Amino acid sequence: MPRVLILHTGGTLMMRGGDPSPLAPDVYTSDLFAELPVLRKVAEIESRILFNLDSSDMQPHHWVELAAAVHASLPKYDGVVVVHGTDTMAYTASALAFLLPGIDRPVVLTGAQRPLVEVRTDARANLVDACMLATMPIAEVGIAFGSKLLRGCRASKLDAWGMNAFATPSCAPLAELGVTVEIASHVLAPRPPTAFDPRIEPRVLAVRAFPGLDPRLLIGALRVDVKGIVLEAFGAGNVPHLENSLVPVIEEATRRDIPVVIASQCARGAVDLSRYEGGSAAAKAGAIGAGTMTSEAAVTKLMVALGRAGEHKVGAAREAFRSAWAGEM
Ligand code: ASP
Repeated sequence: MPRVLILHTGGTLMMRGGDPSPLAPDVYTSDLFAELPVLRKVAEIESRILFNLDSSDMQPHHWVELAAAVHASLPKYDGVVVVHGTDTMAYTASALAFLLPGIDRPVVLTGAQRPLVEVRTDARANLVDACMLATMPIAEVGIAFGSKLLRGCRASKLDAWGMNAFATPSCAPLAELGVTVEIASHVLAPRPPTAFDPRIEPRVLAVRAFPGLDPRLLIGALRVDVKGIVLEAFGAGNVPHLENSLVPVIEEATRRDIPVVIASQCARGAVDLSRYEGGSAAAKAGAIGAGTMTSEAAVTKLMVALGRAGEHKVGAAREAFRSAWAGEM
């Protein structure tokens, strides 16, 4: 039998409640196997509670603790499953991918839109899929949801109602679970594990550009010790450069050695700062394009890159966004 470790961090999957009281984290017990005895047929499973949080309460220090637990456990199991709330699962999956660049077996996050104890739930299928995928030769941090395995650092939660909550709009699924399990050919080759580096810089600000955004609000952020900015710009990475221009803010941030990374508000297509004047003015001011990366991946990668950077932060961030660490672009 393959061996799988389930690390529980919280989320709807193990919650109870609902109408009229809000869903809230429940006491997690070995009930998991009482609810879903079939799991014992998939693998020899051990489980551990790391946290029991609604994932909207996850913080960067939780990612580091989780990554450390995965890093320590991975050599002893065929794969690790992380039970997690859906709300910030794409951030955690991205952070894990960047904190654990060397993995040689699967780390599969999963969760559910409805709790496991309910009759009509997606939790059973997602958990069974996640545990099966954790036994397969897939050396990636993935999200198992809606009969697919998605690359974690390219995923976004796109649906708060439907059972197919996640998508990777610019990356095909790593695996699809139909009558058979089809593993795609773009799954990364195993990378030899490296020593765990827990450094992370949480003082990153993500801002969505919109018509009318007053640049003085961003200048204010520079004064409260922000260490890096992810600007979700329009289309191919364009920012306003006429009225309410954001270009002086980018210049000022870069002068203070605060990297400004530009991601796109579009789910598909790449940031190309040379395509329009708004992008090229931002690039001249020092902005760094995030290519096809999601905002979730850009924010978490910037946090990890800044955590590891020495003196020249803008240079370190530029270097980090030049190449993929875990298939994120
Ligand atoms: N609020 C929940 C969470 O992210 C939602 C879910 O799990 O689906 O923990």
